[in-house]
Parts: sequence; structure tokens; C-alpha cells
Amino acid sequence: MNIILLGPPGAGKGTQAGFLVESRDMVQLSTGDMLREAKSSGSEMGKIVAEVMDSGALVTDEIVIGLIKEKLQGDNKGGFIFDGFPRTLEQADALAQLLEAEGQTLDAVIELKVEDEVLVDRILGRAADAVAAGGTARADDNAESLKTRLMAYYKQTSPLIGYYYAKGGLTSVDGLADMATVQKSIAAVLDA
Ligand code: ADP
Repeated sequence: MNIILLGPPGAGKGTQAGFLVESRDMVQLSTGDMLREAKSSGSEMGKIVAEVMDSGALVTDEIVIGLIKEKLQGDNKGGFIFDGFPRTLEQADALAQLLEAEGQTLDAVIELKVEDEVLVDRILGRAADAVAAGGTARADDNAESLKTRLMAYYKQTSPLIGYYYAKGGLTSVDGLADMATVQKSIAAVLDA
């Protein structure tokens, strides 16, 4: 089965996607990870997206749709988990078309609901922990970029909640609960 994890930055999409990969042999398609990979590889595309990503704004639909398109042709094992994609209505429409062309379905959209203050604390806390551990924080895990990321979420991505509600298949899960509880709630949706 193919699913989307929808939610603001810091909602725990990546963590939950990791659990699903482990427990259900699903394939995680994180456009954020793909873009960071491109950035660190120094590829042409990486150079184009670096500044936009660091600012917290969204990269173009064309780029991310291209990245997803490539991956959809690969093995999907227990199904795809779309993590951080789609983030705009255009991306959502493109995903529907791409899945249809591959003879695939979209089986669930799970919204992780988390309050804004918690998001800010989680992300800035994650950055501080990374630095304390001797590493470096993500270039966009700072107060300034975070503001832009939240704004991008509310302006461009949150309309997808209504879109998928209307389309059918949307379930909201309390992302404030502890990780294991969130994991169980997601499992319940997938096993329903
Ligand atoms: P988070 O959910 O914590 O904000 P991600 O790792 O999903 O982080 O994304 C990091 C950045 O990568 C985004 O702020 C954006 O610049 C870019 N990005 C990721 N996915 C998309 C997408 N689907 N469309 C446009 N930009 C994206």
C-alpha cells in the first residue's frame, strides 16, 4: 500500500516513516532527503536548490516532481511512504497522475497534527542537540528559516489537508503523543 505522511516540519514524519520501513518493508520517499543528498553531492541540481532550501522556502514543483517520478519506477516492496511530498496542490495532482500511470493507488493520507509552539521547540531543540553532540545542525534548523518553513507549510501545504479530505482517505493522528503511541495510531489506520 502507498501512503502519504502529511504534517508541518518537526511533526515526526521522518521518524514514523523509519518505523514503517522497519516494520513493513515499505520504501520511504523523502524529497527532503533526496534534495539534501543532491545538495551535498554538489550536483548541478544541488547547487540550484541549496540556497532555497537553506532559507526554508520550497524548491520548485518541477524539481521535486522529477525526483519522485524517477523513484516511482523502482521497486516499491511493501509500498511507498511519501514523506514531505506532496507539499503543494500542483504536486498532489502530479502524484495522482504519476501513480495512475504506474497502475498504483494511493491508499491512505495520514496527517500528523502538532501545535506550532511544539514544532518550534522540537526543531530548535534538535539543532541544539546536534551541536552539543559535536555535529552540525541542519542548515535550515534555525529560528529564521524555521519561520519561513512554517509559513510555507501554512500557505502552500496545509491546503492539502482539505484536498485529501475531499478526495477521501485522510486520517488525522495526534502527533503530540509519544513516538510509540503515534506509531500504533498509524498502524491502526494501515490495518483498518
Ligand atoms: P521538514 O519537513 O523538516 O521541513 P524536509 O526534510 O522534508 O524538512 O524538507 C527540507 C526542505 O527541502 C524544505 O524546506 C524545502 O526547501 C525542500 N523540500 C522538501 N520537500 C519538498 C517538496 N515536496 N517541495 C518543495 N520543496 C521541498
